[in-house]
Amino acid sequence: MKLTIIGAGDAFGSEGNMNTCFHLENEDIRILLDCGVTSLVGLKKNQLEPAHLDFILISHLHGDHFGGLPFLLLDLFRGNRTKTLTIIGPKGIEKKTLALLELLYPGVQTDLDLRLILFKEYPTNQLLETDYFKLQAFPVIHSAPSLPHGLKLFIDDKIIAFSGDTEWTDTLIDLSKAADLFICECNFYEKESKGHLNYKTIIRKQEEFKCKHLLLSHLGEDALAHQDHFKIPIAKDGMEISI
Ligand SMILES: [Zn+2]
Repeated sequence: MKLTIIGAGDAFGSEGNMNTCFHLENEDIRILLDCGVTSLVGLKKNQLEPAHLDFILISHLHGDHFGGLPFLLLDLFRGNRTKTLTIIGPKGIEKKTLALLELLYPGVQTDLDLRLILFKEYPTNQLLETDYFKLQAFPVIHSAPSLPHGLKLFIDDKIIAFSGDTEWTDTLIDLSKAADLFICECNFYEKESKGHLNYKTIIRKQEEFKCKHLLLSHLGEDALAHQDHFKIPIAKDGMEISI
């Protein structure tokens, strides 16, 4: 499988980095993990064709994680799409996405064949099974109305875990357990802030993550200013990882 980091930035475009979006492909399917506002631009910058996407998984309902969906949907329907795109997210994902689409492009929904978009809500802590992978969503601690979740993807014989946005919670230990790759947010360097993690906490807790590889993402200005001293790899826009 190949993972391409489309965006590993925070919500504020710090250092010019794109919003959260990871592209995963194996022989059968192509999946996006989160779809922040800049995702369509990021996919094209990496020569990845949005029309080839089969699934989009959303960790929570904040713009830098799901706000790119309207642009992506518009782009998909410019071509002659015939295959289904399945969007899997927290409770209300369909209503929120269509409301956002209507807000940004009023009336456009009547021109789109939305039957090709299948929305699914993931159950909390239980496995959601598709023909191609299994997904487990773990509630994490971030702005509660955004319905924040960490996501654990079981695909082929690999496990990819993603924290979404969260402050420290022991849930991260379960989430990262046995993962081949655990992508963990690291918004701050040492500042304690509600809803986000900092590097010092991750270093302190690192031994508790039972994952093969840890990759940090979602670095804000404060964390980026210290990145040269980081002892854990940092996800960068455009990076490709073979899993
Ligand atoms: Zn975020």
